[in-house]
Amino acid sequence: MPGRFGRCRQKKNDALGCCFRGDGRRMTAAREAIIAVLEKSSEHLSAEDVYVKVHRIYPRIGLTTVYRNLEFLTDSNVLAKCDFGDGRARYELIRTANGEKEHHHHLVCTTCGRVINYSEFIDEELQFLKRAEKGLSKKYDFQIADHLIQFYGTCQTCAGSKK
Ligand SMILES: [Zn+2]
Ligand SMILES: [Zn+2]
Ligand SMILES: [Zn+2]
Repeated sequence: MPGRFGRCRQKKNDALGCCFRGDGRRMTAAREAIIAVLEKSSEHLSAEDVYVKVHRIYPRIGLTTVYRNLEFLTDSNVLAKCDFGDGRARYELIRTANGEKEHHHHLVCTTCGRVINYSEFIDEELQFLKRAEKGLSKKYDFQIADHLIQFYGTCQTCAGSKK
């Protein structure tokens, strides 16, 4: 498995196809079920959330298998592991097999834990990112491929209830 792994990373656009061909049948079924669950979900799911949903379509799966596959899929750049500051990792698909999931940023409410995904970026943000990535890659001689942007604060509902 480790050899195949290395190849997946290079072949960015074919990561899914390449990872899922040829592995043990059971692992493949578990991974496909996990991906299917995350594809349908518009939220960020914890390992336990994924387990509950996967278990419905694939009853023989265990929690350990789910954990292991989530780690594997994260290492293979299929999933992103997000930390919203509540001590529980959440997962989301970086892209689907047909590349449909769109890139988004997060607004995290630290009071209720709500996470707003947005993909309508404001101009200032895009300009900042473009400049920051350019400057950083020059300064550290590093090719930036992606980023994870997350802002913490208070959502409208929580701000309203405090007044
Ligand atoms: Zn972005
Ligand atoms: Zn809130
Ligand atoms: Zn997200």
